[in-house]
Amino acid sequence: VPTIGVLALQGDVREHMRALEAAGARALSVRRPDELERVDGIVLPGGESTTMWRLARSFEMLEPLRKRIEAGLPAYGSCAGMIMLADRIRDGVAGQETVGGIDMTVRRNAFGRQVDSFESAVELTGMGDAPYHAVFIRAPWVESVGEAVEVLGRTESGPSAGRIVAVRQGRLIATAFHPELTGDYRVHHYFADLVRRATEEE
Ligand code: GLN
Repeated sequence: VPTIGVLALQGDVREHMRALEAAGARALSVRRPDELERVDGIVLPGGESTTMWRLARSFEMLEPLRKRIEAGLPAYGSCAGMIMLADRIRDGVAGQETVGGIDMTVRRNAFGRQVDSFESAVELTGMGDAPYHAVFIRAPWVESVGEAVEVLGRTESGPSAGRIVAVRQGRLIATAFHPELTGDYRVHHYFADLVRRATEEE
């Protein structure tokens, strides 16, 4: 059973822990570098990326996260977590840094500030045939991706249909929506499988 951490500085940590346990992983909340050492994969939850970045810096987690991800630690970022995994962001606050790892440009609050939340079906590559019922909350979208990035899903309806909202690059995945909130844990299963295979390779 893989141990998957959830970065627990800010955001909807509990919901991800529950989803990971439902997907057959052992979930561990991670706030310190020594806790990060103990996990086979890490989830960066939804929340507020500016706050998450500031806290990651003051808890001295930014560099350890970068180093472990560079060394091949599987990671899954949802919403604010997607922003954290982006190599480049738009509409960040002054000086806002990310952990990075996925060769993509992500725009914060992209669906418009007036659009607090909405739902859309998303067909997700490699996660079964039924469209995913995706919940977006002040969500980012992916504006552009590099060659190594596979697009896993786009919005099919809602304020801006056709936007990239799920991606994968190697052992890193990211979604603009919140699969921890709906009880449909296919994304967490997909990530837990990815972590399991990565552990076997090492
Ligand atoms: N708008 C938030 C940000 O910029 C993300 C929202 C979310 O995670 N639900 O970080």
